[in-house]
Amino acid sequence: TVHIDLADRADVVFIAPATANIISKIKNGTGDDLLTTVCLAAWHKTVVAPAMNSNMWANPAVQDNLQVLRQRGYTVIEPVEGDLACGYTGTGRLPDLPLLLHWLAYAMTAKKDLSGKTVLVTAGRTEEEIDPVRIITNRSSGKMGFALAAEAFYRGAHVKLIAGPNDLTPPPVSAYVPVSSAEDMYDAVFENLDDGDIMIANAAVSDYRSKNVLFRKMKKDKKEINVSLVANPDILAEAGKRKGGRIMIGFALETDNEIENARKKLKSKNLDLIVLNNPTEEAAAFASESNRVSIIKKSGKPVELPLLEKTIVAQKIMNEVVKLSVKKKKSSR
Ligand code: C5P
Repeated sequence: TVHIDLADRADVVFIAPATANIISKIKNGTGDDLLTTVCLAAWHKTVVAPAMNSNMWANPAVQDNLQVLRQRGYTVIEPVEGDLACGYTGTGRLPDLPLLLHWLAYAMTAKKDLSGKTVLVTAGRTEEEIDPVRIITNRSSGKMGFALAAEAFYRGAHVKLIAGPNDLTPPPVSAYVPVSSAEDMYDAVFENLDDGDIMIANAAVSDYRSKNVLFRKMKKDKKEINVSLVANPDILAEAGKRKGGRIMIGFALETDNEIENARKKLKSKNLDLIVLNNPTEEAAAFASESNRVSIIKKSGKPVELPLLEKTIVAQKIMNEVVKLSVKKKKSSR
């Protein structure tokens, strides 16, 4: 009974790459070797990531088999387009490892406590043009925002991630919207806000942009120059004015009177929760994998978290978001 033991001990049975043959066997309930007998016993926790030649992928028999698996509740990870092992180029390629790991985390997250919810996340920095080659920007990497979007995805939410320029692989969210400037981000947010039940504004939006964007590269013929800056719209504050029944989360980076200033922001931007970043902590710097934050709600004492990996910080923040969303549902009954 090795196959039963293996199936019982596993949290997830993850088949990557899944061939047309194993997909067919799983669908038919075949059990003629160790893998297929494990799959028979672990049917309720099996994830398949098909990968094959593009013509095989297009075969109705393969597609029908996968459709049956989906209907039975299996998670099927769609293959992507690209170069295939057989020498073809087309659909059938196994997604890259970071994406597979996101799906694995999705499969391992038993509690889908955000299912049915649409979560809008802004992440990363913005870039404001001065001329065709120069920009104003900041050091935000987007890691915290991407971790939040991924965590919402693991919990079953429909996630729209609106992100400024970054070097990261987006998690397999429902919509990934890359933007550049604060004004682009503003447009993307308000195109999507109506669909959102929860908005998490994690982006480090540039407060100012150049008043006049030059069409030609600025010359270096002067000893001193001035660049006039004008204020960008405050996306979160504007969204707070059109809040409706939405839950809104903001971030704050303060260097003095941190808690007090964060609380003021919570109020003035009409938020339910604000996350205060600690900018002085070395290991919690912008591009770092870790962060030290305090979670501040409308009432009650702030929850000061220790230095933690950003993925764990995202879990803690989403726990609070879920609590808020349960509370909101109860109070609107
Ligand atoms: O006012 P402050 O910039 O400190 O507020 C930070 C919070 O507001 C963050 O959640 C950030 O994403 C959001 N914000 C925004 N648009 C801006 C400035 C900040 O959405 N122009």
